[in-house]
Amino acid sequence: MFQNVKYYPGDPILSLMDEYKQDARTSKVNLGVGVYYDDNGHVPVLECIKTVESQLVEENQPHDYLPMDGLPAYRQACQKLLLGKNHEAITSGRVATIASLGGSGALRVGAEFIHQWFPQAKAYVSNPTWGNHISIFEGAGIEVHKYPYYDPKTIGIKFTELKQFLTQLDVGSIILLHPCCHNPTGVDPSHEQWDQLLDIIKNKQLIPFMDIAYQGFGEDLETDTYAIRKAVEIGLCVYISNSFSKNMSLYGERVGGLSIVCPTSEEARLVQSQLKFTVRRLYSSPPAYGGHVVSRVLSNTKSYEHWQQEVYIMRDRIRKMRSRLYEVLQTKIPDRDFSYFIKQRGMFSFTGLDPQQVARLKSEYGVYMVENGRMCMAGLNSSNIEYVANAMAEVLK
Ligand code: PMP
Repeated sequence: MFQNVKYYPGDPILSLMDEYKQDARTSKVNLGVGVYYDDNGHVPVLECIKTVESQLVEENQPHDYLPMDGLPAYRQACQKLLLGKNHEAITSGRVATIASLGGSGALRVGAEFIHQWFPQAKAYVSNPTWGNHISIFEGAGIEVHKYPYYDPKTIGIKFTELKQFLTQLDVGSIILLHPCCHNPTGVDPSHEQWDQLLDIIKNKQLIPFMDIAYQGFGEDLETDTYAIRKAVEIGLCVYISNSFSKNMSLYGERVGGLSIVCPTSEEARLVQSQLKFTVRRLYSSPPAYGGHVVSRVLSNTKSYEHWQQEVYIMRDRIRKMRSRLYEVLQTKIPDRDFSYFIKQRGMFSFTGLDPQQVARLKSEYGVYMVENGRMCMAGLNSSNIEYVANAMAEVLK
């Protein structure tokens, strides 16, 4: 009966992690998966989360269903975090927001909505992008193409090519953008470049879909929303998917949000109702636990400030690892410029290693990174950084 079912070989990054787990070497290092580890190599439980969790245990609330679009306090907190506290779009009711199953769920519900109401729209993702962007949009029935982004020659952005590319797209095309901490390259546009890109997007009547999964890991919680806020400021309708997987270290709780900034509150009401309908048909209502935890952290000034401090501890640790990697490589191979490791933002870095060098790192040193040369900086710590930097220098020589 099922003999014609096609085997799904799994996600390449997750398969790499299976290989890593089976590696018996004690010196092995995991730089593959996009998870933040602390300096002891553990996924942290943030102190601000622990505090709220103990309150929840104490209160012993029933495990009731949430509304289809999630807790109202959670939805409001997401809007404020993304757009700023008293933003006009929020106060005038122009933002439709639902709680989602992580950032992935937000992307999928957004894609379903686009497919249903704008069936002609094609989506454009950066070349390269997080692989699941393509799968999620295609899974919702949307045709996906790539826009020029990363330039291996400059380890920067193919900015002129990108601008040129955007100008020839059909009106209503969806442009999937990473407002900060681009995955997988770590290369972000400057504010001036964002201004130019968003102007083209506006003039050509394209639709930005901003996927922010690393808010706070780039510059800070506010600055990382620059592109989102600028897009809203110049009057664009924006789709925003956000995730608390990384910046609250709540990976398994599946907490994210989808917000759509609409021209009027009446349109936002219609959009909100359709997002709810999409949720109803897919999974009925979101998980409650993460929603309660996050809304409490964000809604209380003291716990918000505590969270902010903890986000910056994670951000600063990643930066420290970037600097150390740069120092070792620059000393060992002085005729090559490694400053890109410091300029890149967020958890990921395109190392410039080719697939053969990545394979050597794995087989000779037990250092695992994605075949395209992407490494997760947060897999580095004070115990393995020298080992990894020296191994990288060896394969780069
Ligand atoms: N967008 C990007 C760019 C990501 O890197 C990720 C996580 N790897 C997600 C969305 C999805 O996040 P979540 O785990 O919350 O579904």
